[in-house]
Amino acid sequence: DTGLYIVATPIGNLGDMGQRAIEVLAGADLIAAEDTRHSARLLQHFGVTTPAIPYHEHSGDRTPERIMQTLAEGGAVALISDAGTPLISDPGYRLVRDVQSAGYPVVAIPGPCAAIAALSACGLPTDRFRFEGFLPARAGPREQRLQCLVDESATLVFYEAPHRVLEVLGAMAAVFGEEREAVLVRELTKTFETLRRAPLAELEAFVASDANQQKGEIVLVIAGRDERDVTLDAATAKLLQRLAEEMP
Ligand code: SAM
Repeated sequence: DTGLYIVATPIGNLGDMGQRAIEVLAGADLIAAEDTRHSARLLQHFGVTTPAIPYHEHSGDRTPERIMQTLAEGGAVALISDAGTPLISDPGYRLVRDVQSAGYPVVAIPGPCAAIAALSACGLPTDRFRFEGFLPARAGPREQRLQCLVDESATLVFYEAPHRVLEVLGAMAAVFGEEREAVLVRELTKTFETLRRAPLAELEAFVASDANQQKGEIVLVIAGRDERDVTLDAATAKLLQRLAEEMP
């Protein structure tokens, strides 16, 4: 059926490819891929011969004519990214908006997503979580972002580059406190998959002591602020202290 299909693909292990994802990709008239060379391997592995074009989302880019043309002719277009679910720290948002504005349906074909996989196995509360994607690369803006999150009580989920993970854990320990629980989730679904949960300072020391922990693909999951930890403004704190002094 005509429309744009948002197709999730594996985040490492090809065995996680969904049956419906294969069918939709094979049946589509056009595949829009973040990186066509990268995706060629995946498509070949599953015997998909649908033509693929690159799709980026640099500012100023317009939705490729070929996508709109395919939809106008009643065809199906599938969007994939290099790994996992498109639009989750990946291109596709503008495309979805454009296609919907033009009156065509957009259909999700769900599957792997590193953030959700990490959450499901990390051992921190999952009833409320906040996906933050990638933090700013530079220290100043990064700290500002972390400061904005300091009172958030939902579990926090970040994607992080391996060469920055140590620095980021240090920055998080400084802002959220050394005792805040955190989980380093690496290489999900792959050979060297590891998961380690510890207070931030301890996790930082662990990563510092082992260069292997600074490699591969990484999700950081950080506990939200404990709602019982109330910080009081200075006047209230002083009043409470004086009251305490009066107590028998
Ligand atoms: N769209 C993808 C998804 O659904 O998870 C995420 C794309 S984002 C550009 C890539 C980042 O996702 C990596 O830097 C890493 O933080 C995380 N990631 C992707 N695959 C992963 C894996 N197998 N294990 C851990 N983290 C992964």
